[in-house]
Amino acid sequence: MGIGIALIFSGIAHPQAAPERPLPADPKVAAALKDVSADRIRGTIEKLVNFGTRLTLSAQDPASIAAGRGIGAAREWIKSEFERYSKDCGGCLEVKTDAFMEGPADRIPQPIQISNVYAVLKGTDPESAKRIVLVTGHYDSRNGDTFDAKGDAPGANDDASGTAVSMECARVLSKLRFPATIIFLTVAGEEQGLNGSQHFAKMAKEQGWNIEAALNNDIVGGNKGPEQDFAVVRVFSEGVPVAADEKQLRQIRGLGGESDSHSRELARYVAEVGRTYRTEVKPLLIFRLDRYLRGGDHYSFNEQGFAAVRFTEYREDYNRQHQNIRTENGVEYGDLPKFVNFDYVANVTRVNAATLASLASGPSPPAMVRLDTHELQNDSTLLWEGSRGATSYEVVWRATSSPEWEHAQNVGNVMRATLKVSKDNVIFGVCAVDNEGHWSLPVVPVPER
Ligand SMILES: [Zn+2]
Repeated sequence: MGIGIALIFSGIAHPQAAPERPLPADPKVAAALKDVSADRIRGTIEKLVNFGTRLTLSAQDPASIAAGRGIGAAREWIKSEFERYSKDCGGCLEVKTDAFMEGPADRIPQPIQISNVYAVLKGTDPESAKRIVLVTGHYDSRNGDTFDAKGDAPGANDDASGTAVSMECARVLSKLRFPATIIFLTVAGEEQGLNGSQHFAKMAKEQGWNIEAALNNDIVGGNKGPEQDFAVVRVFSEGVPVAADEKQLRQIRGLGGESDSHSRELARYVAEVGRTYRTEVKPLLIFRLDRYLRGGDHYSFNEQGFAAVRFTEYREDYNRQHQNIRTENGVEYGDLPKFVNFDYVANVTRVNAATLASLASGPSPPAMVRLDTHELQNDSTLLWEGSRGATSYEVVWRATSSPEWEHAQNVGNVMRATLKVSKDNVIFGVCAVDNEGHWSLPVVPVPER
């Protein structure tokens, strides 16, 4: 990054020197990451497993909640944990439940109540607080039979691990304050058909929430298998957006925008954050919506047009997922805590927390980012509207065949820059940067004729 290229600027006399990427770490965030605790994560995962089953169809009546078995008991406990974190930060978290009736459906024989539980850390700046970044995991589980409401379904990796990521982010980040809002979400119904996340994302869309990023953590336990790679976490992102309309699809086809969805820019941002904070687990970008034959809650957000990515461990063990606990021919099956690497989950939590904190600290992404295409020329002129909180802007670009941004040039506090780089040969983006070095998601320009 930061390779110097001769530049022409309009609107400023003295362009700043190209900053070296990665951008600087925020000391407050770096300190908060140290507070992420593998022991607490282990406690959360073991507690969730001890509810026996968290199948969405399992018990949620008061007696079962009191007895500590079934999804209702898990829901109440998650809520009480969020409330405890909130007490520790002087009531900084608003703990909420998004409950609704679902079914009958394919995997829901009778109408049932599904509840998402979440905590809101409201932004300190009234205008920026409308910007929302979100982390989620699904707290429901299943065994070999998606209708077995009674049998054990520990779901330690799938997805108590992701639930623990969301909860630990809440505990650690609630000690800090950010201009933008962070939501720590845990959803149910994932195993029955993404019901919880669909309901939540639709509600957000209908109510006009500005969700800038959704980080879905599903199977981030770092299963202790011989071929596991504990140094990386996969980050899946859609290429062509599932929510793109005909006009957007035409533009994507015409301009080579297949790898520049908002979700893909978010994935690149996660990778950049990993480098900035030198996280022990490195984001491994997978340019694909999800794994073969599988789906996840990020898709629900993508469907509503929100940027969303999925975090999943490098190598999954299918003897763990959706299995009844048993031993057959000396092979152990079942999703038990003993196969989870809690240090790994803590490291994945750090990547998530650093991403949430960076986005919530930073300025809003520039609006109305355009590339001047009034006439044929080899220089490229970019225009945009100012972002709240920004003190300068950074133009990033890369070869059309490159996966990540290769060049970054801070162009100062302007809303227009001309670069001696041909738009035909590269893909551009514009980020807003504040005076502490927090940076926004990049926005890829649309052509303006
Ligand atoms: Zn899952």
